[in-house]
Amino acid sequence: MHKTINQLIKLQSLDNELKTINDKLGDLPETVKTLKYQIEEKQEENKKNSKTIVENQALIRKNEATTSDANVAMKKYQEQLYLVTTNREYDALTAEIDFSKKEILTAEDAILMAEENNEELKEKIKATEINIEKIKEELKNAKKDLKQTIKSTETEKEKLEAEKEKITKLIPKKYLNIYKRVYNARNGLAVVPIKRNACGGCNNRIIPQKRVEIYKENKIFVCDVCNRFLYSEKAIDDEHK
Ligand SMILES: [Zn+2]
Repeated sequence: MHKTINQLIKLQSLDNELKTINDKLGDLPETVKTLKYQIEEKQEENKKNSKTIVENQALIRKNEATTSDANVAMKKYQEQLYLVTTNREYDALTAEIDFSKKEILTAEDAILMAEENNEELKEKIKATEINIEKIKEELKNAKKDLKQTIKSTETEKEKLEAEKEKITKLIPKKYLNIYKRVYNARNGLAVVPIKRNACGGCNNRIIPQKRVEIYKENKIFVCDVCNRFLYSEKAIDDEHK
């Protein structure tokens, strides 16, 4: 086996083990981020609704004051009605009373609407709070999972990273660059054995002359079609004899 090919096979195996570890972490970091965002969003929504409730309460107080003032005024006009002597005075007072009545009705409508709106908002806030608690629980579990997974894989990961660093230094830059490119482009398979006279990656047939060269381990070959490094398993068998 060509020395560099051997190193590339080891590198590929280390890379695949590291990939498995990262897959174990999977969506957890993203899940934690999303849940945190969801909580913030819902808290913001509750804050906004609470502010509207306070605004509605101010509106209710203002309209209650209007109602009470209008009632006082109306009573005063009604008492004055007994004292009028002319039609003109009578009409003027009746107009004032009508105006007060309208004012009271408008204010009462506004109070009712604000009260209904506040009831709805309070229900909404309560439901959202329950929802937030649920998401918080999910977040707690996701964080725990993430922490545990990181902890359980940390040592193994460090060991693999160290081995990878060592072997990477031994491989000529030229081949390392091809390896990296093909590894990423070909889903973690950059070094393949020849199988049934064809590339173990893409099944492209390897001409006999090239196969002999590969077997003789003099040169490094890549597949013409997929660019993967090729090696002969026969060469490995020979090594083990
Ligand atoms: Zn190929």
